[in-house]
Formats: sequence, C-alpha cells, structure tokens
Amino acid sequence: MLYKDLVIIGGGPAGLAAALEAAEQGVKDVMIVERDSGLGGILQQCIHNGFGLHVFKEELTGPEYAQRFIDRLDNAGIEVLLDTMVIEITPDKRIFAVNSEKGVLEIQAKAVILAMGCRERTRGALNIPGFRPAGIFTAGTAQRYVNIEGYMPGKEVVILGSGDIGLIMARRFTLEGARVKCVLEIMPYSNGLTRNVVQCLEDYGIPLRLSHTVIDIHGKKRVEGVTVAKVDENLKPILSTAEFISCDTLLLSVGLIPENELTKMTGADFDANTQGPMVNQRMETSCEGIFACGNVLHVHDLVDFVTMEAKFAARGAAQYLKEKDGPCRKMSVIAGEGLRYVLPHAVGVEKMLDEKQNFFMRSIKPMKKARLSIQSENGTIKTRMLSYVKPSEMINIELNKSEISKAAGHLKFILQEEGASDER
Ligand SMILES: Cc1cc2nc3c(=O)[nH]c(=O)nc-3n(C[C@H](O)[C@H](O)[C@H](O)COP(=O)(O)OP(=O)(O)OC[C@H]3O[C@@H](n4cnc5c(N)ncnc54)[C@H](O)[C@@H]3O)c2cc1C
Repeated sequence: MLYKDLVIIGGGPAGLAAALEAAEQGVKDVMIVERDSGLGGILQQCIHNGFGLHVFKEELTGPEYAQRFIDRLDNAGIEVLLDTMVIEITPDKRIFAVNSEKGVLEIQAKAVILAMGCRERTRGALNIPGFRPAGIFTAGTAQRYVNIEGYMPGKEVVILGSGDIGLIMARRFTLEGARVKCVLEIMPYSNGLTRNVVQCLEDYGIPLRLSHTVIDIHGKKRVEGVTVAKVDENLKPILSTAEFISCDTLLLSVGLIPENELTKMTGADFDANTQGPMVNQRMETSCEGIFACGNVLHVHDLVDFVTMEAKFAARGAAQYLKEKDGPCRKMSVIAGEGLRYVLPHAVGVEKMLDEKQNFFMRSIKPMKKARLSIQSENGTIKTRMLSYVKPSEMINIELNKSEISKAAGHLKFILQEEGASDER
C-alpha cells in the first residue's frame, strides 16, 4: 500500500492546475494518477487556438495551454503515474488503480481531488433510428482521428448538435477539404459559444439549421445520407418537413456527461442538473476530504474556468490537510427561477478561502437582457443586469464575505428576463 497526502485522479487541465496549486500551498506529497499515456487530457487533441485568454491573456492552442502546466510539474516535485486507471475509491479515501507494470495498486490518501473530466453523449443516448453503418462519430472521436491519429473520417459531413466541439469540427473538416453540408440543432438557439458560431460556421459559409434534427440514418455498410426534419415547440419532428441530405459521415455533438462512476462509489451527494457531485465553497463534496473540479463537477465552456476552479479545489484540499475542521456555519445555495444550476451548492462562511466567493451558473434559456438577483431570507443581497445570456455560456458572479455573512438561511439566485437596460 502507498500512502500519499493528496491524490489527484485525472491529469487533464483540472488535475494539472490542482496539483501545482496544492504544491504551491505547501502540500508535500502530491500524486497525479492518469489513465492515458500522457498528461493534458482532452486539450491534447484541441489543436485550434482560443485557450488561455483569461488565465494567460494570450491565445494558445490546447496542447500549448497544457504544456505550460506540464513544464512546471518536475520543479514542483509532483509525482505522476501514467497509463494507470483508477478503478475504485472508498469513502475513507483508499484508491485502487491498475497498470500493466505493477498490476493492482492500493493508495491511501489523506485527501483526494477528483478531476476525471467528461465524455460525449453517443447515438445510443439519442435513439436515432436506422442501421448501424460506419461513418457515425462523436465530434470528439473525429477530432482525435484528425488531429492525433491523422485519419480523415469522411468527405461529406452532416453535424448534429451545435455544441462547441461540433462547431470546431465543422471548421476543421472544411480546412481538411471535406464538405460540411450543415449543422443541425434541435433547440431554437445554438448550444455553443457565440464566438465559435461566428468563427467556425459563419466565416466558412456553413449553414446552421436551428429547430432541426436527424430522424433517420440511411446506409447499411457506410452512411449514405440522413433524413432531417424541423421540430415543433415540444421538440417533436414535423414529418411533413422531412428532407433527405446525402452524406458519408454524421458527427454527433450532442452534449457531455461528467465522468462520475468513481465519485458515486464515495457516496457523495449528487446534483441531478450538473450530473456531478454537490460541493461547498472549497469544492469539497459531501464526502469529507474528497474534492472535485473541472468537467467532472460540471461541464465548462472555457478551460480557463476549469483552471481557476481547480486552483480553488487545491486550496480547499490544502486547508483541509492543514487544519482540523472546526464548526462552520453552512449556507445552502439555491438555483431559483431562470437558472439550471448554481455552484458551489453550499457556503461555509468561516472556511471561505478568500474575501470573495465566485459562483458559477447557467441560464435555462437565452435572454437578451436579464436581471440576476441574489436573495436570502432577509432580503436581496445583490442584483446585476446581464445582456445576451445563453445556456451555453457560463455566468459567474462574486459575492463578498461581508455580503454572504449578512445573509440568513440561504442564498437564492434568480435570473429574470428584463426589458430595462440600467446597470447596477
Ligand atoms: C472532445 C472534447 C473537445 C473539447 N474541446 C474544447 C475546446 O476546444 N475548448 C475548450 O475550452 N474546451 C473544450 N472541451 C472542454 C474541455 O473538456 C475542458 O475545457 C477541459 O479539458 C476539462 O478539463 P478536465 O481536466 O476537467 O477534463 P479532461 O481534459 O477531460 O481530463 C480528464 C482526465 O482524467 C483522466 N481520467 C478519467 N478517468 C480516469 C480514471 N478512472 N483514472 C485515471 N485517469 C482518469 C482522463 O484520461 C483525462 O486525461 C472539450 C471537451 C471534449 C470532451
């Protein structure tokens, strides 16, 4: 059995930032366990630019962004176990992992940070009828084929779902000489960042067809085409609008699912909306000493926010390792009208890591102007006017410790659509 102060599961951007921050906070014995043969997580296949605008104030590619962190690991004395898959974790922080060299490893950690990322939803999750021909890929799989393996999955492509990975792959396929016929989106609005709709579709003349979906896939050996249809306000296909589009490839970019099989083994409480664990102000799950950050906690639109959140989790873990946990007044955080979720789910005021606490949230629908208000049992704590809110773009707002301390009972976040434009 190995003994470690802090074990981080996953060596993507969340795990890397958490490990470095923990070392900076004075945690001596930090280990990253990563199932892949290299560090960097999904960033290694994201060779487009646009990473790091917030953290480094520069436009980096995914591998460049990851490398900035990887280069610092040795100096920080962080141990890395590659090609090692964690298969079990217990509530008392015992970790079981396997690799081809040592077989099964058992590690007893004093604290754990979960940073396992997410995976893509597949055709099975959508139940699209038709045969099972070759030529159907998730957008991330196609990204790996093109950018890492050097394979071109097809020549005539239809993309279902306007998530960021699908938008980026529409541009990538076009640059590699394929024809992207259209991107279909079942919702009446795009599910990706506005900058990606502009830079990946509009700049290349690729049509985005909102309120449309695929209702049939044709072809037995290889995809020969898809039938698409408009959907009504209940997202039901309107069969009279059905139209055949020939293609040899269908890419699915229909959402990401946090990879929480290990988290569930700890017995931590879950949030049905994020599909990740519930956390407090220091990103600690309801299982004491087990922290979570990055896409395993909630799906992020920008990696910069993953890095910031991971640093928070690491500072939380360092605080947990240094101090014996005393009593702490816990305030629950509620996602009210207009919001799908708010994170963290609870704030222990006396154990806040800074004088300010950042809250992350997503709206339930796009709004041109909206009023975000934070309320407690004794009234409104703060309001802020927001413009061009979209479910695909995360909202974040900071509250001061003094504002949180004044609140009673809970913090309830409400997002209401507004006509007025005054900023407070
Ligand atoms: C296909 C794809 C493309 C994306 N493109 C972009 C983009 O262009 N721009 C952007 O800002 N964001 C993009 N994202 C979002 C991106 O995931 C995040 O920005 C960021 O990479 C999340 O960091 P993470 O560390 O939480 O997860 P990841 O980068 O997914 O890293 C998680 C790591 O955990 C490891 N792991 C998981 N389970 C285990 C286990 N049991 N044992 C050991 N190791 C394990 C994985 O191998 C992986 O290395 C993309 C996501 C996907 C899925």
